[in-house]
Amino acid sequence: MSEAAPLSPLLEQYEGVRSRYPGHLVLFRVGDFFETFGDDAKLLSKELDLTLTARAPDAKGARVPMAGVPHHALETYLDRLLRKGYRVALCDQVEDARFAKGLVRREVTRVITPGTVVEERVLPGADHNFLVAVDARLPRGSYAAVDLTTGEWFQDRADGEGPESLVATVAGLAPREILVVDGAGTERLRTLLSTEHPRARLDEAPEPAEVDALPPVLAGSIGSADPPIAEVARRLAAYVLETQPRLLPHVRPLPRAPGGRRMRLDGKTLRHLEILAPMNPDDPDGATLRSTWDLAVTAPGRRTLTYWLRNPLADVGAIRARHDAVGALAERGASLLALRRDLAAVADLGRIAGRVAGRRLRPGELGALRDGLRGAGRLAEELAAVGAPLIERLSADLRPPATLLERLDAAVPVDGSGPVPAEPRFRAGFAPEIDAARQRERAALGELAELEREEQAATGIRTLKIGYNQVFGYYLEVSRPNLGRVPAHYRRKQTIAGGERFVTERLLDLEGRVRVARDEAERAESLAWEGLLTEIDAEVPSIHRVSRALGEVDALAGFAAAAQERGLVRPEIDEGSRIQVRDARHPTLDRLLGGGFVPNDIDLDADGERLLVLTGPNMSGKSTYMRTVGLLVVLAQSGSFVPARFARIGVVDALHTRMGFTDAIGRGKSSFLVEMTEVAEILRDAGPSSLVLLDEVGRGTSTFDGLALAWATLRFLHDRSRCRAVLATHYHQLTDLVEGLEGARNAHLAVRERGEEIVFLHRLVPGSTDRSYGLHVARIAGLPPEVTEEAGRLLERLEADSVPLPAKGSGTRRATRFTQAVLLSAEPAPESPLEQELRALDPDRLSPLEALQWLAERRRRLDAPPSEGSAR
Ligand code: ADP
Ligand code: MG
Repeated sequence: MSEAAPLSPLLEQYEGVRSRYPGHLVLFRVGDFFETFGDDAKLLSKELDLTLTARAPDAKGARVPMAGVPHHALETYLDRLLRKGYRVALCDQVEDARFAKGLVRREVTRVITPGTVVEERVLPGADHNFLVAVDARLPRGSYAAVDLTTGEWFQDRADGEGPESLVATVAGLAPREILVVDGAGTERLRTLLSTEHPRARLDEAPEPAEVDALPPVLAGSIGSADPPIAEVARRLAAYVLETQPRLLPHVRPLPRAPGGRRMRLDGKTLRHLEILAPMNPDDPDGATLRSTWDLAVTAPGRRTLTYWLRNPLADVGAIRARHDAVGALAERGASLLALRRDLAAVADLGRIAGRVAGRRLRPGELGALRDGLRGAGRLAEELAAVGAPLIERLSADLRPPATLLERLDAAVPVDGSGPVPAEPRFRAGFAPEIDAARQRERAALGELAELEREEQAATGIRTLKIGYNQVFGYYLEVSRPNLGRVPAHYRRKQTIAGGERFVTERLLDLEGRVRVARDEAERAESLAWEGLLTEIDAEVPSIHRVSRALGEVDALAGFAAAAQERGLVRPEIDEGSRIQVRDARHPTLDRLLGGGFVPNDIDLDADGERLLVLTGPNMSGKSTYMRTVGLLVVLAQSGSFVPARFARIGVVDALHTRMGFTDAIGRGKSSFLVEMTEVAEILRDAGPSSLVLLDEVGRGTSTFDGLALAWATLRFLHDRSRCRAVLATHYHQLTDLVEGLEGARNAHLAVRERGEEIVFLHRLVPGSTDRSYGLHVARIAGLPPEVTEEAGRLLERLEADSVPLPAKGSGTRRATRFTQAVLLSAEPAPESPLEQELRALDPDRLSPLEALQWLAERRRRLDAPPSEGSAR
């Protein structure tokens, strides 16, 4: 600590800052540490596992808790604080502590929030870092989003009405921080958002910025937007102006998807299909679509891939353009490998540009920028020959801004990309003022060395030497035995153990020259540094453009590599109504199982047989089949080839899924209400171009209302939504009803019985199945034999009691009696004595009186206490 006790004035200063930044964690620079005091200190020490110390503000005061982090380790700690959702105000020393009179002046120099950081260690490398503002004011909400580290800015309306739709619309952006506009529906919106994005920070959106205060590109696009969109965009801009004002001029409004149409895909579907994160919270490293499909070799490529998988396209032209590009790259054979090797050498230019703009550059990054831009230029040339329009466009985007490259070449030393150089260093010749000052500094230092030799000669003291320390500067040091020979003009400065230290006029003069030259050099350097960064600033949008193009090329090259290595097929995409796939494989499972995956066909036609109802035992592969359908559509519409022998996909504009209740346990909720809410949303939204996947619908309630709901849902999808859909169900009763619908058909996954054994073939076959094989599965699972044997006897009885349904169609179908539904509802009880007596009765041989007496007698027994008779 540079300031001596007492602590009270410092604490006062701290409290003053804290009161101006409510809702922030104020990190207060004291010497080499960022400190917190009082309750914040307790909080910080708990959150970051720091030692909590305490100091008394003065002789009388009580001790105040203190906790802090070393300033050089700030990024690491910031990362953890932001992850935990804190907003941090960095209060720095804004004058040199050495020259401060009394308390050092301190100001908040930066407010750091999860959506506005640019520091490398704090950013998720493989993902975007979106800051999103949402306005749910009805009927249809609006949003604006920005990734300050890559310069992308989106603004639009929600896909549909209501807060649910708004939340679904921004789900594909995976926001790190969300600004909520207050108004009707805010409560619900906040609840939905915090469930959907539990790790994102939610805040109230600030008042809108004036359009005049915005940089020209933004002012233009916001100025011409619909008023509700413009308003939410101006609020987002206001927040950026507050937190990272330098970055705002570099953002560029872009369409969220090329071609302007995105496949609607909400957060639930992203989770159900395990596109980015595994469902099982106990297996956070489990395979996902991204983890198996990520062949990108650069950070921008990984970001692009992630974004594409989360935001598949729904525009036929744009999808085909990607497929053309992937095809053209895949055909390049070995040279694709070379291309990807070149890509891998390029640094994360977009993020570096963000740090130039935010002035948080790390040492060596300008060298990496220069080399990366040069690499991009070479890639542009290589790619110009690849015959696909999208690649041509990207290759044009890859061309680095020539003047910037020249400047960087001139400024940055060749080896400037090394890890250490702590200070800005320039190439000789870049800035003559620096060179001249450094030259003067070197000359003065040379004269100092000369002086040492001269003084040795003049005094005859061969051990006399010139030294330097922080307090006195340069001095002449003479050891004790030689003190007698010290000339008169030497002035004594300091006595040390072995001798004395002196200065002379000449030495002071030289010292002055060294200091002046050094100061000049430093000043010239920092001027030139700021000047260079300002020059780069002007090119940040171009660097972002290059970086985005690199990302796209890398993502496409990754798809191409997958196509080469994994036997994928190019899907045909059209505006048609069909999804037709031969030998479809589940993209993740197929890779996990090696060759063991059983491929299946997919045939869904919105104008024909659009609904497929899957029955069959647990473990037969229903869910896997259904997910395969969804994942192939996502892959195809993201631009990838797909694991199949043939695929044609009539473009899907919305993909809705509802997966079984067991699968939802991970979210901590599995109630029937949640299920019904999800189904309701799907039914509201789905139309003829949608694809709907419903796994085990109606399972969460009692058999009969579950069955009834499943049936009604199926009817609605068939008659009203007219969408393409796959439903898996354990309600075998549904299969009869399906036969009556022209646009629906039954299928199941084949099982082979071998005596007691059953084998799951995982092969899709037409028609329904009424066998659950629950007992087989139970046996495999290791239920005690007493239980499975007892269950087996019970099942036999039930089967014997079953009545065949009126034959229909093939006629080979068996009764649907011994299904789970009946198992649950039929109560197998032995005949009661009354029933036995009734059975013994022959009504034809009874007189009316006898009959009446018989009845009265039974009735009396019924009314009597149990001891009197046993019948009942
Ligand atoms: P269900 O939903 O019918 O209970 P799942 O789809 O969960 O069954 O499949 C159960 C398991 O069977 C999967 O985890 C997988 O290991 C295997 N499986 C499913 N489909 C296939 C297939 N087509 N090829 C190979 N194995 C499969
Ligand atoms: Mg299942």
